[in-house]
Amino acid sequence: MAARCPICGWLATSGLCPCGAAAKRLLPALVPIGAKVLARAGRGPSMQCWDRGEVQGHLGVLHRVGTSGGVYWCEAEDILPDAPEREALFTEGARVWALWVDSRWYPGTIVGVEGPMRRVLWDDQDSMWMEARNMVLMAGTTGAPRVGQRVLARRWDSSEDSGTVEEEDADRCRVVFSDGDENWIPKADVSPLPMNPFVDPE
Ligand SMILES: [Zn+2]
Repeated sequence: MAARCPICGWLATSGLCPCGAAAKRLLPALVPIGAKVLARAGRGPSMQCWDRGEVQGHLGVLHRVGTSGGVYWCEAEDILPDAPEREALFTEGARVWALWVDSRWYPGTIVGVEGPMRRVLWDDQDSMWMEARNMVLMAGTTGAPRVGQRVLARRWDSSEDSGTVEEEDADRCRVVFSDGDENWIPKADVSPLPMNPFVDPE
């Protein structure tokens, strides 16, 4: 059973996470009672929404989390604890995953700082002021595009769009765009999208 790093949001399997913060602190097996957290009710394709809440109690490995949507019983994997050092790390220009009003995580950039509040500009150009507890630092793999990876790629009309790599050869990828269009594109024009720590591997 793994806990989540409160800075990057990734599961710190064997105590390590992509941002390195988990290695520098002891992640407790149980998030303490009274801790402010983000939590989800369960896992799976219909369980992508994270609610704000507070740990109210423990039962074995389970946390009783009170949220506006009701009480959830969560393992550590389904809880993102708050951490005081977020305030110092979440500075202007930082790339983050931030919780949008639909309670899902989307990529964005911090463009304003006011005390505990951060202005997030999401990559689709929406923006909002919100508490730093509603975001994590973006960390994780980029590098060369691989089959199965979500990418940003240039279309024939030179607009950029997101898609998935379905096939590759030495220097090109076959990218299927979100609207079903597909194309063989030079790898130089394909950039992997950072992986979302809150999406379960398929
Ligand atoms: Zn981390």
